[in-house]
Amino acid sequence: MSELFVLVEHRRGELRDITLEMLTLGRQLAQKNGISLTALLFADHTEKFMDQLKNYADKIICIDDAKAENFNSELYQRILIPLLKDRKPILTLIGHTAFGLDLAPSLATEMGLPLVTDCIGLDLEGNGLSAERQMYGGKVNVRIKVDDSASYMATIQQGAFQPEANHAEAEIERLKSSLDVDCSYRRFMEYLEAAVGDVDITQSDIVISVGRGIKEQEDLSMVEELADSLGGVLACSRPVVDAGWLPKNRQVGSSGKIVNPKLYVAIGISGSSQHMTGMKGAKMIVAINKDPNAPIFNIADYGIVDDLYKVVPVLKEKIKELKAKCTC
Ligand code: FAD
Repeated sequence: MSELFVLVEHRRGELRDITLEMLTLGRQLAQKNGISLTALLFADHTEKFMDQLKNYADKIICIDDAKAENFNSELYQRILIPLLKDRKPILTLIGHTAFGLDLAPSLATEMGLPLVTDCIGLDLEGNGLSAERQMYGGKVNVRIKVDDSASYMATIQQGAFQPEANHAEAEIERLKSSLDVDCSYRRFMEYLEAAVGDVDITQSDIVISVGRGIKEQEDLSMVEELADSLGGVLACSRPVVDAGWLPKNRQVGSSGKIVNPKLYVAIGISGSSQHMTGMKGAKMIVAINKDPNAPIFNIADYGIVDDLYKVVPVLKEKIKELKAKCTC
């Protein structure tokens, strides 16, 4: 039976969300095409990831090796090449993350396989692959037909799929590590975490985010007051950081922070793919934008089409009134 591979991504001993997101996409494709879904797990102690992974795949191929404790694209490539040559999966999914961006192009080149990057959708039709990607900062979605090949590779955008465990327990296949040589010219040294700064926006249940719709730096105080009145934190899209109006640690998006709050309010933010990558996991999304065609409305639960300079003061006033009435 043909196989679909998903490369498990972990960091500091924890599974990364992208792994379960890719396995969910992999499950849809596997079911539709009658193929088997296999997770590839390379780690120091693979056992610790099993509970989280076991209901997502038909099979988990594990390689235990202390050298695979931290990501190193060179070592991963050395493990993957013989495995891909031997098993010939129809498709291999890798996260569109710093990890995947380092590994996938070189692996695809070495294997001579077609690679589609940053996919938000994939379809296997017979032996053909079509992929959905975004262009022009998320304003346009395109579908790409990949030239026919016996095997394909794709990197998957973070946050594009909601993880869903819906399968019986996976079969475990343990393979002997083929990492018999050290890779001294490229080795893991240490994790350097970006400074959290004054506020850690990833920890707040309520995130009020502002974008280029705000005209002056001074006007940020109006949005910050709204954030304060809701007990939330102020965040922003990248242009606000580029303008030097807020520090980088407040930026939401693919090159900023990923937030999963209960409430995300996007004010004067168009909804580029890079921004939405960072916030589409929010439980409730409210968008305020004067352009009814802004892409942010495609993922918003509630939308207000109007000038933020009219809406924000009214919202602040309403919240004040509600708080005054509240006896709790
Ligand atoms: P715009 O796209 O300019 O949108 C402004 C919106 O405000 C418009 O929809 C407009 O209708 C609305 N508006 C204007 N005036 C008003 C008003 N008075 N009232 C109401 N609405 C109003 N971006 C990020 O945010 N985070 C990232 O991490 C990130 N990483 C990136 C990485 C790369 C490699 C690249 C190439 C880009 C990245 N970007 C990122 C930038 C991204 O492509 C967009 O340019 C950016 O998200 C746009 O920000 P915005 O929505 O605030 O601005």
